[in-house]
Amino acid sequence: MIPFIDLQYQQSLIKDKLDASIQKVLSDGAYIMGPEVKELEEALSKFSAARHVVTCGNGTDALLVAAMALGVKPNDVIFIPAFTFPATPEAIMLLQAVPYFVDVSPDTFNMNPTSLKEAIKDAVSCGYKPKGIISVDLFGQPADYDEISVIAKENGLWLIDDAAQGFGANYKGRPVGTLADITTTSFFPAKPLGCYGDGGALFTNSDELANVMRSIRVHGKGTDKYDNVRIGMNSRLDTIQAAILLEKLKLFPQELQQRQILAELYQEAFSNCDGVVTPTLSSDRTSSWAQYTLKLDDENKRQDLMLALKEKGIPTAVYYPTPLHHQTGYKDICLAHQNLSVSESLCKRVLSLPMHPHVEGVRPHIGVMKEVLQNVLTKVYF
Ligand SMILES: *Cc1c(COP(=O)(O)O)cnc(C)c1O
Repeated sequence: MIPFIDLQYQQSLIKDKLDASIQKVLSDGAYIMGPEVKELEEALSKFSAARHVVTCGNGTDALLVAAMALGVKPNDVIFIPAFTFPATPEAIMLLQAVPYFVDVSPDTFNMNPTSLKEAIKDAVSCGYKPKGIISVDLFGQPADYDEISVIAKENGLWLIDDAAQGFGANYKGRPVGTLADITTTSFFPAKPLGCYGDGGALFTNSDELANVMRSIRVHGKGTDKYDNVRIGMNSRLDTIQAAILLEKLKLFPQELQQRQILAELYQEAFSNCDGVVTPTLSSDRTSSWAQYTLKLDDENKRQDLMLALKEKGIPTAVYYPTPLHHQTGYKDICLAHQNLSVSESLCKRVLSLPMHPHVEGVRPHIGVMKEVLQNVLTKVYF
């Protein structure tokens, strides 16, 4: 079986540097909030062009810190795409706010601005108090920020970009990190920029929000260490992870190019296969290709296709099999736009293929993948 995400290859390229960085943290002894954390925040700020970067414990905490900084309160209504990872709505739900699920576009899988507009109108007419929007850069492609920002402004809503998957991408020449009031990301090992444990970060151009987020990250600290000025939490990035990320960030621009090359090879191989639609990347943006996700015409063929690929040593994954408004823990407490048919349909049809920066580990298998796709998808059942 080839790896679905190849972390070993990348490690082999920088093993000596990683060992030296980790060893330095071990001997320095500042395991939490050591100098590497500040150094990483500066490097990420330079990379993303965001004025402030605040690292934290993981991508879910990043969303929670962002929601707390924006003052999310019980019963606030927040618009969120129905087709995403559960961490996106979870953060606001921990604050007793209510997610209002919005449909996504069938081609980009990202929040559909038209559906968002309808949902806001609907929520207001039902007497709810909309407060914000969390858009997601699903599978690595930035959402429609120009349209979404205008809708946010017109309705007095704040905007968070959940870029756990999209960090490293660009939108109309602007890097992810600067497209919303606050951008959050995750350094979970399998994300485009991952560490070797849990990690996350917040990006903003607002001095005020950055100060509040820095305070929330460490128990709501004030300028006096022993006077906590608000209720916060403990969500710090540890120094070893920061040291690892500093080394990985140097490789990241090259890796993004490799991911793009693999996406193009897939596109070339599968774009004229019957029964399957390859991902659409809008021409005004780049993707960090967190996932390469096909859409099948016939939902009944997904299981067969996964098995047939597995037999040839090709792993696949389904992100995501159930839309959020149908999940057990959510269905009775969330609000949902009446038409979420695209999200519902995608959950039955999507299939993600191996995607990582080691192109040569995948290239020799693309021919076999194409053969399997053609065999399974054009097979007629009597
Ligand atoms: C991975 C992910 C998160 C959560 O990140 P963690 O670091 O695992 O907490 C949030 N949102 C999206 C869209 C993700 O893919």
